Amino acid sequence: MLATIGLEVHVQLNTAAKIFSGAATAYGAEPNAQACAIDLGMPGTLPVMNAAAVRLAVRLGLALGSTIAPRSIFARKNYFYPDLPKGYQISQFEAPILIGGGIDIRVGQTNKRIELTRAHLEEDAGKSVHDAFHRESGIDLNRAGTPLLEVVSEPVIESAAEAVAYLKALHTLVRWLGVSDGNMQEGSFRCDANVSVRKPGEALGTRAEIKNVNSFRFVEKAIDYEIERQIRIIESGGKVVQETRLYDAQRDETRSMRGKESAHDYRYFPDPDLPPLILDSALIETERSRLPELPNARRERYQEDLGLSEYDSAQLTQDRALSDAFESVIAASAAPAKLCANWVLSDWQGALNAANLTIDQSPLSAERLGGLVTRVHDGSLSSKMAKQVFEAMFASDDSADAAIARLGLKQVNDIDALAAHVEAVLTENTTQVAQFQAGNQKLLAFFVGQVMKRTQGQANPAQVTALLRDRLG
Ligand code: ADP
Ligand code: MG
Repeated sequence: MLATIGLEVHVQLNTAAKIFSGAATAYGAEPNAQACAIDLGMPGTLPVMNAAAVRLAVRLGLALGSTIAPRSIFARKNYFYPDLPKGYQISQFEAPILIGGGIDIRVGQTNKRIELTRAHLEEDAGKSVHDAFHRESGIDLNRAGTPLLEVVSEPVIESAAEAVAYLKALHTLVRWLGVSDGNMQEGSFRCDANVSVRKPGEALGTRAEIKNVNSFRFVEKAIDYEIERQIRIIESGGKVVQETRLYDAQRDETRSMRGKESAHDYRYFPDPDLPPLILDSALIETERSRLPELPNARRERYQEDLGLSEYDSAQLTQDRALSDAFESVIAASAAPAKLCANWVLSDWQGALNAANLTIDQSPLSAERLGGLVTRVHDGSLSSKMAKQVFEAMFASDDSADAAIARLGLKQVNDIDALAAHVEAVLTENTTQVAQFQAGNQKLLAFFVGQVMKRTQGQANPAQVTALLRDRLG
């Protein structure tokens, strides 16, 4: 059996105000402190399109290679639900702002382009809040009227792994462009997964839609569960029903929520209060001129121009702040990109994770880290010393050189000085020299250790080893 998946992602646009009103969108306010009469659709109010939301949608559309519709239309989607007191949601239906486009993903060693159907602007609804025992429910309308862009993929995704790769790429992109903060816990990036199965050669099967899954791990589990559930039904002679299901993370299963509505149930009609959205090409061209280098282009550049591995390039381009910081490290350092990448990905990220800080909150700047990587590259520091210096720099404002001086750490690379230490060690340990010459090669490490001791760990171990080999023949 083959699985088919199509994803609908609700991306919350990063605007200060709602899509049709001036009410604030900030997360976490007192319930119902941020919903105004327009958000509630009170009689006599008029919605006015927020230009900032349009610009963000256009920006994402350009990055996705979508056609930007010069004219799009807002409709009313009519339904009853407690969190939608006005009885309809304003959403683009027949004429969305973005048409087509796609996202390139890589799963294992395979590249694939996931085509998009469309993306449309719409307003969010409020939310129901339940007490722990479900005895009382309240309605918080702060979210009502928050701008969303719903990105709809074609049904061309064939596994949970592809679905997650697609979602991660889209998530990286919306954050990269500043289109959304992408905060999944706060609901800024939510996904509905449509799943069906069929036998090879047959038309697409009946789909179930799993609503509002808000973590990559849960999307993967929910899809895998749903694929297996549908295969079991079909293999035992049953039929999958078209319905909306809910993923229960605690039990790791999907449950039926309601029968699936069809478009005609919603009685869509163009919103009489909103004129068609007409985009002039100047706005589109301004957004195009502001587009930054996109994550995929940057990843390829890292591999091709900087010679980084596929893995490192992918890691570094998952997040714009991280990638920009890496660029600053390279710019500030005389070391090769590969060495800079190692320091950024392992030491710097490790320290930030341990301190629970984002890169923007880092006490160590990219420029200072660049200085440290330079000292590793020019041999001033052994890798062990460099880690000590890194820790000192992370906890202070010292430059690399200041921290090295403060700690009294400097690798001795002076060949003549090292040769003198080697000589001294060999004269003091004649017994071991004789044993080494009689064949006990393991003693090389002993001699290196003695030199390190004499130099308080500041000799360059590679140079010491080379000198000892030379001297002992
Ligand atoms: P709605 O869910 O609003 O009724 P659509 O019919 O446009 O909207 O489909 C929404 C999503 O479902 C799209 O991402 C589409 O790719 C996906 N989809 C449609 N048919 C199937 C199918 N048979 N199997 C899996 N996904 C499907
Ligand atoms: Mg749907």
